[in-house]
Amino acid sequence: VTSPCAAAAATGTPLARRDDVLSILPGTLPTDELAARLAGTDAAVVLKLGRTLPSVRDAIARAGATDRSLLVERASGERERWSRLDEVDRDVPYMSLVLVAGRPTTRTRPGPGRLTVVGLGPAGPDWLTPEARAALADADVLVGYATYLARIAPRRGQRRLETGNGAELDRARDALDLAAGGDRVAVVSSGDPGIFAMAAAVFEVAEEGGHDTIDVVVLAGLSAMQAVAGRVGAPLGHDFCVISLSDRLKPAAIIERRLEAAGAGDLVVALYNPASRTRRAVLARAREILLGHRPPDTPVVVARAVGSPDEQVSLTTLGTVDLDRIDMRTLVIVGSSQTRLVRRTGRPPQVYTPRHYPAGR
Ligand code: SAH
Repeated sequence: VTSPCAAAAATGTPLARRDDVLSILPGTLPTDELAARLAGTDAAVVLKLGRTLPSVRDAIARAGATDRSLLVERASGERERWSRLDEVDRDVPYMSLVLVAGRPTTRTRPGPGRLTVVGLGPAGPDWLTPEARAALADADVLVGYATYLARIAPRRGQRRLETGNGAELDRARDALDLAAGGDRVAVVSSGDPGIFAMAAAVFEVAEEGGHDTIDVVVLAGLSAMQAVAGRVGAPLGHDFCVISLSDRLKPAAIIERRLEAAGAGDLVVALYNPASRTRRAVLARAREILLGHRPPDTPVVVARAVGSPDEQVSLTTLGTVDLDRIDMRTLVIVGSSQTRLVRRTGRPPQVYTPRHYPAGR
């Protein structure tokens, strides 16, 4: 019988219910990591107490789990005893643990709900932050584009409002209305929710009025450019800018003006939404404009579906880049005049932009 099981039996507390995730964590972890792991799980047992108690207590408080936490000493032993963690005001022996019960399944919820805008990262569980994972687990309703919702494991009792792509403002309105009705709503976006994504749409609709009692919380996510940069080296090591090539929400003329400015400023440029099946011209124009400012051998990163099984990442140059292979699942990073390609024997090349910029350029 393991100590977590003995502690659960002693306190009459189920370790986990239904699809709760249970984590067993050593109290010797650094406080920050412990807090992040607690935020990313439903139920937990923290072992190895004693001197670590203040740090464990702090991490549990930061994960908002103090009122679900019990301290159990010598479970199943002769001197077994237990109490709520917040009632413990003494040193505890090494033979003790904290049992963090799963979140209660029924909540009484006075007043309006809460709307959290959550970034899922570019793909896969490794790029989903523990904070985002906890918010998804905690929500009554998930709202988002069906493709993104498909990345989240279903959870019994949790509703989903799937929407098509586009229509961000309608989706934001639906989400705010649900929150006004008392639900805890998580609106999901890929990558970071504040970068060409739902967070701004929610604020836009909230500003129209009628929703000012709702607490809108935005949880940062890893953006596609960061994941792509990491795959190839450090192309964003110096000043860079980010431009969406979609002309759905802005005129093509402004895109051209910004590309010109990025070219003139010798910034590394990350291009989001580079081209769709029908929208190809802006991408060709972007290449032309940047070629007006930097040489054809400027490194270019073309990264498609990074983090998914379809991932394809290639290093090419502004002069030779094959634009036909670029679609909406692709992110393009165009180097500055300083971005360098590092050739390696027997391994693929890498690319980086140095921290220093030469004087007089
Ligand atoms: N909020 C997202 C961006 C949404 S715009 C973020 O922060 O990443 C959608 C664009 O993001 C796509 O057209 C593509 O350019 C880029 N993108 C998103 N996920 C990607 C991935 N896994 N690989 C490559 N590009 C990606």
